[in-house]
Amino acid sequence: MLYIIGAGPGDPELITVKGQRILQQADLVIYAGSLVNREILNICNSEAKVVNSAKLTLKQIIDEIVQAYQQGLQVVRLHTGDPSLYGAIGEQMTELDKLNIPYEVIPGVSSFSAAAATLKKEYTVPEETQTLIITRMAGRTPVPEKEALHSLAAHRSSMAIFLSASLVGEVQQELLKHYQEVTPVALVYKASWPEEKVVRGTLNLLQKMAEENNIKSTALILVGEFLEKTGRSKLYDGSFSHGCR
Ligand code: SAH
Repeated sequence: MLYIIGAGPGDPELITVKGQRILQQADLVIYAGSLVNREILNICNSEAKVVNSAKLTLKQIIDEIVQAYQQGLQVVRLHTGDPSLYGAIGEQMTELDKLNIPYEVIPGVSSFSAAAATLKKEYTVPEETQTLIITRMAGRTPVPEKEALHSLAAHRSSMAIFLSASLVGEVQQELLKHYQEVTPVALVYKASWPEEKVVRGTLNLLQKMAEENNIKSTALILVGEFLEKTGRSKLYDGSFSHGCR
């Protein structure tokens, strides 16, 4: 059987119980080397073959999976955070579907959840914002024009910007087209790793914050009033019915 598993944001204890169990039983593990915390691999069977996919092409990854699958081995493709976000699993699943190879996807804790946990913040603040936009700045992977950062900024909702720590200057400019200069921002570097770093400030200082703290990769840029404001929901109000609590 083949499993695509979310490894979580870094802390090896932030993989799901199901993901951990399957990883322990795997014969072949192909992990996304640039971001998966290698400590997670310590739980693998000592006989398991463990492969870093960082230098492999899509075809090489698929070939490796297919070969093992056809031998009846248990195969794990391990991605960072949750596989549904910027994991390039879509193209892998397309290839596997073409080859009629069945698989199961086990979700993971995304880095945006880990970052909120670190900050002890709620992205959705009653009466302030009920929307979190997850996006990125265009880089080597283009972003469709209809989703250009400045258009998304028009909502002034909470935002978690992935894959853009090396482009903070542009991010700042784009966001300032709609957010105020004093809008709270946070840079969260390697959330849940031992070397985690958090830098907080306001949007007009974003680039400076990244430069001064030498944050260029593996960070999320979080933006919005949620970083400062708290609201009060009706959920725990005495007059509210209790069905959703
Ligand atoms: N699927 C992953 C995202 C992979 S894209 C997830 O759900 O988190 C890689 C980008 O994710 C990085 O450039 C960075 O923006 C973000 N990222 C991944 N792990 C991170 C972490 N521990 N802390 C902060 N940002 C992280």
